[in-house]
Amino acid sequence: MPMKYIFVTGGVVSGLGKGILTSSLGAILRGRGYRVTAIKIDPYVNVDAGTMRPYEHGEVFVTGDGAETDLDIGHYERFLDTDLARGNNLTTGQVYLTVIQKERMGEYLSQTVQVIPHVTDEIKERIRKTAQEQNAEIAVVEVGGTVGDIESLPFLEAIRQFQFDEEEDNTLYIHLTLVPYLRTSEEFKTKPTQHSVATLRSVGIQPDMLVLRSEQAVPEEMRKKVALFTNVHPSAVFSSPDVEHLYEVPLVLEEQGVGKAVEKKLGLEPVIPNLSFWQDAIRVLHQPDEVVKIAIAGKYVKMPDAYLSLLEALKHAGIKNKARVEVKWVDAEGLINGDLADAFRGADAILVPGGFGVRGIEGKIRAARYARENKIPYLGICLGLQIAVIEFARTVAGLEGANSTEFDPYTSYPVIDLMPEQLEVAGLGGTMRLGDWPMEVRPGTQLHQLYGKELANERHRHRYEVNPGFVDRLVKAGLVISGVTPGMKGRGEGLVEAIELKGHPFFVGLQSHPEFNSRPMRASPPFAGFVAAAIEQKRKTKIFA
Ligand code: GLN
Repeated sequence: MPMKYIFVTGGVVSGLGKGILTSSLGAILRGRGYRVTAIKIDPYVNVDAGTMRPYEHGEVFVTGDGAETDLDIGHYERFLDTDLARGNNLTTGQVYLTVIQKERMGEYLSQTVQVIPHVTDEIKERIRKTAQEQNAEIAVVEVGGTVGDIESLPFLEAIRQFQFDEEEDNTLYIHLTLVPYLRTSEEFKTKPTQHSVATLRSVGIQPDMLVLRSEQAVPEEMRKKVALFTNVHPSAVFSSPDVEHLYEVPLVLEEQGVGKAVEKKLGLEPVIPNLSFWQDAIRVLHQPDEVVKIAIAGKYVKMPDAYLSLLEALKHAGIKNKARVEVKWVDAEGLINGDLADAFRGADAILVPGGFGVRGIEGKIRAARYARENKIPYLGICLGLQIAVIEFARTVAGLEGANSTEFDPYTSYPVIDLMPEQLEVAGLGGTMRLGDWPMEVRPGTQLHQLYGKELANERHRHRYEVNPGFVDRLVKAGLVISGVTPGMKGRGEGLVEAIELKGHPFFVGLQSHPEFNSRPMRASPPFAGFVAAAIEQKRKTKIFA
């Protein structure tokens, strides 16, 4: 079968959930047994998302091969249940970097290098290459931004060309728009959609399908009207109303016949999809056996997207434990002098997520101590592990003033220190320890019980590590090193990947970010264990209450 391409564009406003639409299309095609990949185009000039503020763009998602990508790649991996790679996130920066390098190498000798065809060819080549490398049958390509943006023009031109490069039934163009509902006059407004499609048509793309985002389902007569004004077949205008859980979107789309419409345009055999996983997951989310509350002591508490994969991993762990996980956001800065019992009231467990920079660090250290001393389940992710080690060093191992050199370069006890290979690093783009690294899980530890195996792969994104020079002293004081990087035995205990505490119901820290590997259908083991411990904690406190 030749590669099939589905192109998703968006209009009217940004933030409509193109990523979720793309992921959901992927899910309903995966449910039909196809090998699907998804590619996100980000028209900004940055080479990757690694150097951008999480406060503005949300989390930086890390792929197994160590690319720092847009958070939509995380949605794709979770909905498609497949590992994606560097090529799945395409940016203007990458395209121009290559085109300019090629020009300097003389590859375009004697030619004037132009947006059309040189830049557009580079874009098309990258899309095709990624789809092939991922061994996909169908590639869903999402163009970030909104039609009409100056920066997305070369990408729109490139995807436009696909319709003639490929046979007719190998491409499908879907446009997602907002249909606002005016409460005062109680009506849906379709004009913005009409304008958006007109803009798309002005660059030569006639959408085959429209998906209308709105608060409520858009009624049929409205969809017919949109069809009439946009030159789209009435049977190909769908409605995507607000839902409570993201995982409902594939079901909402399938119910309306989106899958059938895709099959028809792409010339695929009609198949009855298996979407039972999503149905089961939704059932748990709507009717959980338990509801637990987890406090996240972080820095970006007003921007949940900055912790997207973490929140999703908690959700997956909830589904596995038939529980709904609610989050209590706790601003780490407020913990520096605040009343901890008050801050964590009602929470069944405490999580300290990854992070960079000194702001709020002492508050997180107090949170770790509070969890350790009061035997409240604690999960420390990356920075959260480092925090737990600093706290343990100070309070239990007697290393007063212990710190990470990231926060105090002159500390007398640098228990967390820059990794040696980072000393030679010059720039800040893509220079951390990134992506998959193996972890040797030590038998007899809680971590081993969770993973049920001796070797686990998790994704990383950090510059600092537990200082090997202090490991012996920490272990003597009672810290359990439950995971190490294998094959580094020459260096003390080996690079610390995970820690835990004896005599505590659940106190686990990981240098990696297991949330990036968590899937709705396969919860990350440490997260699953953490949520189970939170459920147990809730039961205990209920008995004593
Ligand atoms: N700032 C810490 C480091 O660079 C932790 C990073 C993280 O939490 N992702 O090692």
